[in-house]
Amino acid sequence: MKVRLVEGRCQGHQMCAIAAPEVFGSDDIGNATILIEGDIPADLEAKARRAEGNCPERAIAVIE
Ligand code: SF4
Repeated sequence: MKVRLVEGRCQGHQMCAIAAPEVFGSDDIGNATILIEGDIPADLEAKARRAEGNCPERAIAVIE
């Protein structure tokens, strides 16, 4: 699986980076960045899915 950000939705809550700090970072204004552009390692998939589910803006897309 891979993760992507849906353009224009992120509001910088940083809940994703709390749920999955190995996968999500933040840019200089606090919006999310993707730290792993390729396949998410199997041991981080659950965290990445939790981040997707917790994002209040539905800004994270999981691609299987
Ligand atoms: S992706 Fe969602 S949880 Fe993460 S900073 Fe953006 S709005 Fe917040």
